[in-house]
Parts: sequence; structure tokens; C-alpha cells
Amino acid sequence: MTFDDFYFDYGLMDALDAMGFNKPTPIQEMAIPVILEHKDLIACAQTGTGKTAAYVLPILNKIAESDHSHLNTLILAPTRELAMQIDQQVQGFSYYIQVSSIPIYGGGDGATWEQQKKALKHGADIIIATPGRLISQLASGDINFTKLEHLVLDEADRMLDMGFYDDIVKIISYLPKDRQTLLFSATMPPKIRTLASKILYKPEEISISISKPAAGIDQQAYMTYDNQKIPLLGEIFKGTSYQSVIIFAGTKDKVKSLQFELKKIGLKAKSFHSDLEQKEREELMNDFRSRKVQVLIGTDILSRGIDVDGIDLVVNYDVPPDPEDYVHRIGRTARAETKGTAITFINEKDQRRFHAIEGLIEREIPKTPLPASLGAAPIYSPRTSKPEHKRTFKGKRK
Ligand code: AMP
Repeated sequence: MTFDDFYFDYGLMDALDAMGFNKPTPIQEMAIPVILEHKDLIACAQTGTGKTAAYVLPILNKIAESDHSHLNTLILAPTRELAMQIDQQVQGFSYYIQVSSIPIYGGGDGATWEQQKKALKHGADIIIATPGRLISQLASGDINFTKLEHLVLDEADRMLDMGFYDDIVKIISYLPKDRQTLLFSATMPPKIRTLASKILYKPEEISISISKPAAGIDQQAYMTYDNQKIPLLGEIFKGTSYQSVIIFAGTKDKVKSLQFELKKIGLKAKSFHSDLEQKEREELMNDFRSRKVQVLIGTDILSRGIDVDGIDLVVNYDVPPDPEDYVHRIGRTARAETKGTAITFINEKDQRRFHAIEGLIEREIPKTPLPASLGAAPIYSPRTSKPEHKRTFKGKRK
């Protein structure tokens, strides 16, 4: 499935392209069609799965296709940080379609309060709010919910844990009954079910079970510029006794060129790619199993389904675009309760991707400093780094 399959407004497709979103994540594949069909939804999905875009994209598409001169959507989130992140995604996706949003969260000074009040008076298509602060602003009476079409509860379980139940129920009492309600939650305890039964109408249910890397994998990462990656590999192999290693790279061409680059620094490796005949591939896998070939280079095809035990090191020469692929790649090592090491090279452009992986696996991977001889490395700052801006349109125009 691709984003083309949703027939989104082309302004939205341009934004997706610019933000480097090439393929919907599983939660997006499942949730977007349901939301486009105007059905209520309960989705069990954690941070890192792409859940925010799963509801933001179809809602933006609906707003873009309507005459949007009124408040259309209310998104409730537990914390100021999450509200800000959602707002950033809304702003990014609506770059070419002129949909406006206002974040309403607590914690600021009096000036912030006044700014939020003014923004509310002026109006917007989407309000993203923490429940407590929205209740306070509601008292001022400047919010007109009469034409509201969507209510989203993001991280609903956390909102309830933080004691927002009454605030949420109160906020909902201001909203039209004839609306679409979407509830996203990482867990589904009974209190979420109770809330859902009160505020949703015949909801569809979807659940994404996320894979977690095995506990025996020692996950490491280096921040590195592209031209430091080969010397870094040299350093990693120096004085170590890895018996069986897979190096993953993003494309077939990269895989092929890596074989030669590695040869130059004295590392014998073979590349595994789709240009090889079936027979050649089988021979190569046999040689890898028997340790005749100790270092194998491949793309993500190699991460699915190769069945070789005893791989002691996996190197991600670049960060896989799909966080789930990271889990598949590093899952080639430390199989069946054994130990293994997984090392990822992160260049300055791949930081956001790596951050998404850390979100999916719910842990931060320590960044090992580069050996001093390789010079300075980029600084890990995924929140401020910008993705590469591509402006070639690949979607279907309506
Ligand atoms: P979330 O689960 O909504 O917190 O998203 C986690 C991260 O994945 C965010 O940094 C998103 O920008 C990114 N992301 C979400 N969907 C996609 C996609 N289809 N392709 C690439 N990155 C994505």
C-alpha cells in the first residue's frame, strides 16, 4: 500500500513527499480508510507507530475538501509536549493546504494565556488542547463548537491516569453529538472501555502490536557523517573477533559499492542482492551459514526470513526508513536467547528516523562517541533536524 491509495488532496501529497513519508505505517494503513469513511474508531497504538499522522492526515484531507470557515476538529492530548508535537505535524502536513491550528496548553505565563485566548477568538480549523487548559479557556465563552466534526483523544489512557476524566466528559458536553470520535490509546484498561462506550458510536477497533527487540541484543549507535562510516567500520572490526556479521544498507547499489569500499580497507565481505541468480544466492547463504563468508552485506530483503543462527553482529550502515525494519534487521542477531550486538550509523539527515525507532522500541539507544582519529561527529538533535526537502510530486492528482 502507498499513500496514493488514499486519493488525498494533492497539496497533502506534496507535504508528505516533502516530509519524506514514502509509505504508510501499519496503523496508518488500517486507520486512514476507517476515518475517511466517517466511522468512529478505537485504536490501540503506541508512540512511534505513526499514530499521529494516522488521524491527522485523513482529517486534514476532509477539511481541505470542505468549505472550512469554522472550527472543525478538537484534539485532546495529555501533555503540553504532546500537544506541541501534534501541532507541529499538523503545521507540516498543512503547508500546502492552508488549514489552521491553535495549540492550547498550560504552563505558559499570562502572555501565553492572552495569546491563546486571542487565537481562539480569531478561530481556526483545528484546536489541539490539554484538557485542563481548555476547560479554563472554555469559561471565557469564545469557542464555538457548533460545527465541530471530529473529536480525537490521543493517549487516552494517559489522560485518564492524569485525572482528566471529568474534564474530558465536561468538554464533550459542549460538543455536537453528531460528530466523529477517534480514540487512540497505548493500552486498553477497563476505564478506557467505559469511556469509549459513553462517547463513541459503533466504533471500529484496530490494534497494533509492536514488536520489541530481543533482550539479548546490545544496541549501540554512532552519530557519523557519511564519509566517516567506512573508517568507522574499520575501527569496529579492528581487534575484534566477530564470526558472523550482517551489514544492512538502504539500496542495492549501496550494497554493491560497499563490498568494494570494504575491500579497500582489507575487509572481506560479500553482497547479497536481487541481481544475483537464485542459485548464487543459495550458495552465498550456504557459505554464510558455514562461516566461509563471515561478512554479508544486504538490503532489507535480507532482514526478513533469513534463518541463520549465531550472527554476532548486525550493522545498520544507514537507518532504515521504517522503524519496524529496524526491529527485523537487528533481530537477525541474538536469536534463541543468545547474545549479539547491533550497531547503527546515524548521519545528520537520519536523526528523525532514528528517533522514530527509539519511539517504537520505547527506549533511547546510547550514542557512542566516534574514535577521536575520525574527527568530529554530528550532534544528535532529532527534534530540530530537518528532513531532506524533496519536491518531486509522485502522487495521483485528483
Ligand atoms: P508517532 O507514533 O505519531 O509519534 O510518530 C513517530 C514518528 O514517525 C514521527 O517522527 C513521525 O514523523 C514519523 N512517521 C509517522 N508516519 C510515518 C511514515 N509513514 N513514514 C515516515 N515517518 C513517519
